[in-house]
Amino acid sequence: MSKAAKTTGTIGVTTDNIFPVIKKFLYSDHEIFLRELVSNAVDATQKLKTLSSKGEIQGELGDLAVRITLDKKTLTVSDRGIGMTAEEIEKYINQIAFSGATDFLEKYKDNANAIIGHFGLGFYSAFMVADKVEIITKSYKDAPAVKWSCDGSPEFTMEETKKEDRGTDIVLHISDDCKEYLEKYQIESLLGKYCKFMPVPVIFGKETEWKDGKSVETDKDHIINSTDPIWTKAPSELKDEDYTNFYKALYPMSDEPLFWIHLNVDFPFHLTGILYFPKIKSNLELQKNKIQLYCNQVYVTDSVEGIVPDFLTLLHGVIDSPDIPLNVSRSYLQSDANVKKISGYITKKVADRLTSIFKTDRASFESKWDDLKVFMDYGMLTEEEFYSKIESIALFKDTDAKYYTFKEYRTLIEPEQTDKDGNVIYLYANNLQEQYSFIEIAKAKGYNVLLMDNPLDVALIGMLEQKIEKCRFNRVDADSIDKLIAKEDKKETGLSEDASALLSKVFQNAMPALDKIKFTVEVNAQGADALPVMITQSEYMRRMKEMSNIQAGMAFYGQMDDMLTVLVNSDHPVTKRILEEAQAAIQGDDAKDDAKVKAWGQNVKVLNELVDLALLQNGLLKGQALSNFIHRSVDLL
Ligand code: ADP
Repeated sequence: MSKAAKTTGTIGVTTDNIFPVIKKFLYSDHEIFLRELVSNAVDATQKLKTLSSKGEIQGELGDLAVRITLDKKTLTVSDRGIGMTAEEIEKYINQIAFSGATDFLEKYKDNANAIIGHFGLGFYSAFMVADKVEIITKSYKDAPAVKWSCDGSPEFTMEETKKEDRGTDIVLHISDDCKEYLEKYQIESLLGKYCKFMPVPVIFGKETEWKDGKSVETDKDHIINSTDPIWTKAPSELKDEDYTNFYKALYPMSDEPLFWIHLNVDFPFHLTGILYFPKIKSNLELQKNKIQLYCNQVYVTDSVEGIVPDFLTLLHGVIDSPDIPLNVSRSYLQSDANVKKISGYITKKVADRLTSIFKTDRASFESKWDDLKVFMDYGMLTEEEFYSKIESIALFKDTDAKYYTFKEYRTLIEPEQTDKDGNVIYLYANNLQEQYSFIEIAKAKGYNVLLMDNPLDVALIGMLEQKIEKCRFNRVDADSIDKLIAKEDKKETGLSEDASALLSKVFQNAMPALDKIKFTVEVNAQGADALPVMITQSEYMRRMKEMSNIQAGMAFYGQMDDMLTVLVNSDHPVTKRILEEAQAAIQGDDAKDDAKVKAWGQNVKVLNELVDLALLQNGLLKGQALSNFIHRSVDLL
């Protein structure tokens, strides 16, 4: 460019007019123009520092802050970085396919400060919100200052101008349909979102203070960011308090985290960050996607789906990596080799951290287990690699709130809870209150009962039955205890076929008609001290129904009636008495007539009392039926 001349030209792209394309398709979020421009400014400043540290620039660098200023119609981003000569504008701006950052990195590969040269068409995103953009820039080299201007058509003008200071001003003439970007609070909030941890001070306006009940501006610059967030520091420099304070700054409304991991890798990719283990409540979706992803301290997204394995999205914190390709689709991300390595690395780090806590402080590990369990279950269920890494430290909790590793538990129950076929039966309850009497019955036999009361347990049980050899899980109320852990072949009832059929019919007809529930009576001998009547639901059916709640494609099971079994204990003296009375009252073919058996049974208080007690035990006695039961019980007394 000859001195003082004004040039015009066409921006070197093949498309006729790239701007409508940029405006519509390049970024769905217009607001990110601010991130692009501020990171270019930060980038230019970092380049300047690199040159200075290499001795290629002499003297003081002066104030290096990046400033954002608003005017009636313009928004300006100013820096005191390396600036551009006319030739550089030609190369880096006019020929937009050319990325200056690539050039620079190539040259200073081994010493570059972190360069945010990652965002492709970054500068041109300004046209998403501006009708006209001006660049006023003066290089650190001895060259005239340049003013470049473009009104959104592919034509630009470029001329020499006056600028005292080294660096660049990018002036955006905000278009009428984007006026919100001239609002102070809007820019303030965008800077807070994207620039909070950028490595060069970013200044927007002045600090305010409260004076006489009013907010007034001071003469102190308002710095948006903290330039060296704790994830960029060495763990040895940091105290627990630094980590918890940072957590509070990121998630002001959250409980304290359980613990955290400081990530720091250089090879085969770069990644730093801090991951926190939150206390996980039952609503998984609310917990997800709280991890913020940064690229050299520039905020990119808080949706890390596809970048880390799904279960890790339950964690909170920050990941910073220049090696994650950011401007590509999620499906591409999932197949990217770097992303896969990063996933594997984080999974391993998480497992290592958990293992080290388990080994060094088991008591603390146990005390955190309940809050950690959903996360662990989710990980074990969805990532084979994670399962194999934590299999030896994952815990079972029993109904007395004692914790065991899978191995310890097996050793504990194997002697007593192996059935006649050699299967080890893991008994469990999912509700201490509702299954209280069933738990007591199992304990009286000397068995241990696990507590499996969280939403993923039904899936976990299914998986463990596949993984652990000769292992079956039975819920304590799935059958009579003798059948849950069958030690010998079925005991004879000692009743004749007719007697057994009659007893069964008597109870079948005494059962109430309940919505969505089907009862099937089974008569068997359980010993005189077992309860006379118990209602159970088969393990298999119940699990199918529970799985249908958490897994698509199983809705069919969810709609089915509950099939409940009424276990009548023929050894119990009260059932014996009912049978004798029935045999005396119902004779011949009447014993096969449901209506007659039912009519007889309606007046037998003990029979109805037993049925109601069994219903009550399962939480099935309600309303009128419950009231009838209470009156009858008082009568019997
Ligand atoms: P990228 O940052 O990915 O290279 P951009 O379109 O954002 O793409 O910028 C193109 C080039 O223009 C940059 O690489 C840099 O060389 C130059 N540039 C942009 N903004 C500035 C700035 N504020 N100061 C100096 N150079 C800049």
